[in-house]
Amino acid sequence: MIGLISATSAGAAARDRLAAAWPERTRVYEGPVGDAVRAAFAECEQLVCFLATGAVVRLIAPLLADKTSDPGVVCVDEAGRFAVSLVGGHGGGANELAREVGELLGAEPVVTTATDAVGLPGLDTLGFPVEGDVAAVSRALLDGEPVALKAELAWPLPALKVTEDGSHVVRVTDRLVGAAEREVVLRPPSLVVGVGASKGAPVDEVLGLVRDALRDAGLAEASLAELATVDAKAEEPGIVEAARALGVPLVTHTATALSAVVVPNPSDAPLAAVGTPSVAEAAALVGGGELLVPKRKSSRADGHAAMATCAVVRRPRRGRLAVVGLGPGARDLLTPRAKAELRNAAVLVGLDQYVDQIRDLLRPGTVILESGLGAEEERARTAVAEARKGRAVALIGSGDAGVYAMASPALAEASDDIEVVGVPGVTAALAAAAILGAPLGHDHVSISLSDLHTPWEVIERRVRAAAEADIVVTFYNPRSRGRDWQLPKALAILAEHREPATPVGVVRNASRPDESSRLTTLGSLDPATVDMMTVVTVGNTATRDIAGRMVTPRGYRWQTAEEGAK
Ligand code: SAH
Repeated sequence: MIGLISATSAGAAARDRLAAAWPERTRVYEGPVGDAVRAAFAECEQLVCFLATGAVVRLIAPLLADKTSDPGVVCVDEAGRFAVSLVGGHGGGANELAREVGELLGAEPVVTTATDAVGLPGLDTLGFPVEGDVAAVSRALLDGEPVALKAELAWPLPALKVTEDGSHVVRVTDRLVGAAEREVVLRPPSLVVGVGASKGAPVDEVLGLVRDALRDAGLAEASLAELATVDAKAEEPGIVEAARALGVPLVTHTATALSAVVVPNPSDAPLAAVGTPSVAEAAALVGGGELLVPKRKSSRADGHAAMATCAVVRRPRRGRLAVVGLGPGARDLLTPRAKAELRNAAVLVGLDQYVDQIRDLLRPGTVILESGLGAEEERARTAVAEARKGRAVALIGSGDAGVYAMASPALAEASDDIEVVGVPGVTAALAAAAILGAPLGHDHVSISLSDLHTPWEVIERRVRAAAEADIVVTFYNPRSRGRDWQLPKALAILAEHREPATPVGVVRNASRPDESSRLTTLGSLDPATVDMMTVVTVGNTATRDIAGRMVTPRGYRWQTAEEGAK
């Protein structure tokens, strides 16, 4: 819960905007400011104070205990110009909250935490648990002191400025080792515990079994990624509650899938009960990996038969490939999610001109593998090969990386040994449409006129189909120096079914510094004015030029404003 406190009417207005935007997440504290801050500090995970930083510092100073447990506090000034992350930048999430609040209120987020300010990942914001002397190692990273990475598991990490040897250490392990001095231990989510339980098995028995199994094997609970079991046990309270207590998801698999897993200790009992000779071992192993703890039964003080079993597996290391669309060009059309993925990448693969577009967003130390035009398959292969090494890789493309771009060749290369995430981007057709007006208000297609990868007959058949079906068409790759007859030919096919007066929008370099756009008609478009930086959108028979904007009505019961007024 986020506690909101304000003193003045301007503050209250901004406070109410936040409260209205986040009704579930926020709670307004009224009354005398001192009491309100103290109550919110005790009851909330985060505070947003519409007060001067000085006032807030004085109020919370006596309440501060520890940065791992204190709430994150953000201050917004009277004029709503700044959202200042005051305390709890990382642990309390105040940095992130300052950004969110800033976005909502149009205020500038002010973040002074060193690691964030210089673009290094805060060691406690890498997305998994970290133990040890985070402050000392972060400072060493910042000061450029040698920090050694001791990775027992090659888990995909963002770029960190690390070396082979150093006075400080970042250790990546799921083993139950404490952090030494000047060391942090990162806990990747590498362990899966498979569990089986008879009906009514108490949660304490399941939980005790899982914890004992991990501890006896010298494994850290913080690296537990999930509990796994068979579908039939998806609602078994002891298992459900144990997963909740451990703070991990419960993943279930069909008995058929589990039966297919080869396990060291199958037995008849689960076969009769749920249709697979193994639950715990099979559920732990179904995604592959190394069996660290074979099936083990719970022990009961009262001498009753054991009601639960478990097995522990270390998942195979999986690299991560993020396929990231950068949007058409302008920085503010790059999505926050794309930005986050770029910052999480240790390796970036892309066309040199796209790399230039976002180079400033990368963390220092990111390995950049850029290449020139063409070489698409090569880039795709490189990206996948890097991910297979266990790295965090971002493969970038302009617009949407899945539209006439890198996602398909990359995914054709990849198998399930790497994790793949896609981040959508604003594709050229959409960027152009927003400039032109509303040309895509009804059914529309994109057609690439490049016959490098597609025979012209196929392209022509698709253009003809769109023409006959009266669908709005956006042409990508419309014309280049060596390819100049395709666009006139395609337009001629559309003209067989549409009037010469049909609006056509031509947008060049949408959202880039030299953006230009033109609204013309099918009859008067001069193809020579079109190049490879351009998309061409041809309206359907209902599309109109209204006040210089290209508008395709949502239905065919079209009437102009004038007719409507009659
Ligand atoms: N993945 C890209 C498309 C790659 S194909 C996307 O989703 O947008 C390359 C073609 O896209 C270019 O020839 C041009 O037709 C179009 N294009 C890409 N960016 C553009 C922009 N900013 N303005 C106009 N057209 C663009």
